[in-house]
Amino acid sequence: MQTILIKHVQLNGVPSDIYIEGTSIRYIIPAAEAVPLKADCYLDGQGKAVLPGFVNTHTHAAMTLFRGFADDMTLNAWLEKRIWPNEARMTDEDIYWGAKLACLEMIRSGTTTFFDMYHKPEATALAAKEMGLRAFVSGVCFDRFSPEIAKEVRMETQRRLETWPTFGTHIRFSLGPHAIYTVSGEMLQWINRFAHENDCLIQLHLAETPHEVTNSIRQFGLSPVRYLHRLGVLSPRLLLAHALYVDDEEITLLADNGVKVAHNPASNMKLASGYRFKFTEMRKAGITVGLGTDGCASSNNLDMIEAMKLAALIGKAWRNDPEAVSADEVFHAATTAGAEITGLKKGCIAEGYLADLCLVNLCSTAFVPDFNFVSNLVYAANGSCIDTVICDGKILMVNGKIDGEDVILQQACAIAHRLVQRN
Ligand SMILES: [Zn+2]
Repeated sequence: MQTILIKHVQLNGVPSDIYIEGTSIRYIIPAAEAVPLKADCYLDGQGKAVLPGFVNTHTHAAMTLFRGFADDMTLNAWLEKRIWPNEARMTDEDIYWGAKLACLEMIRSGTTTFFDMYHKPEATALAAKEMGLRAFVSGVCFDRFSPEIAKEVRMETQRRLETWPTFGTHIRFSLGPHAIYTVSGEMLQWINRFAHENDCLIQLHLAETPHEVTNSIRQFGLSPVRYLHRLGVLSPRLLLAHALYVDDEEITLLADNGVKVAHNPASNMKLASGYRFKFTEMRKAGITVGLGTDGCASSNNLDMIEAMKLAALIGKAWRNDPEAVSADEVFHAATTAGAEITGLKKGCIAEGYLADLCLVNLCSTAFVPDFNFVSNLVYAANGSCIDTVICDGKILMVNGKIDGEDVILQQACAIAHRLVQRN
């Protein structure tokens, strides 16, 4: 088994040696009590702090190709005029290189796990596997209330599951019904049964805009969460992206059914979907709330440190309460809560936990003075403070260097230009 020894790194303010064996953290020893340990690889942790790798609980990785392509538009116009027509022309190769660029960016900014919903998910899964990240990858599906399309979606989903194991255990298959306005209730129920039978998670956009809620009430007679409840599809396997428009009773329904939520402050604000995310109410009700960036067409980066800052600032601003949504709470959401959604033993730097972690370079203005590390990380730093990243016990970036970075940047840029020219 491969072993890595990180020497003299700051862990909760204590200089420590961290010994990784295979995919897990085997020993953590305060540097003052350190004993000589032999390892295959040694990393110098001086001037660095260790933290769990971030979990991006909602993104569409390959949308990095649309970064800066369509900004400052309404959600509907943005989707219908700019995004969907281009997505319809995307090949496996386009999505592969878009996802490679996303993985590169996620590694650079300390993310070790992401939840993805997109077309041709095999291409995203391959990119994530090659880059060494952990991912829950779903193929986005729409039946647009057509029984014929629904039949195709069911066959495609079954086929995908059967071909999935070739991607390895840290790339997990999951299901991605797009939203209640593009996927029928029957399809959502079928997906729910399929997820239970095959032990996988479901990623769904929900209650993202007031328009969605109005239409849900008009079309189904119920608000989005109540509609899902009536369909019988609220379960611990369900991860909702956004959930901006939910009332107290709906929060209780989500909590009682173990539903998880991904909060995406950058996307919500940029698309002007809304900003009154009920972080405090959800946490009080016992809902696991993770943080996400959403895709790069709406966020326009995948920086989880920026997502933490935005979640904290907007959480305070709309309530006129500086004590609402603290740095510690958003740090928990970006690490431990995200890890809970994966169901894996990760999200904490402790013996026996998966070695998904990153080292932060403390030699920058954001970390001086050093009164409070989490405060500096959330409010003063950004993704560029990440120096080294390890996922599943493998080194993905060391001292800011990632193998093959130049090729990914060139290929992704060329592919993005070819894609929009094709339209
Ligand atoms: Zn999304």
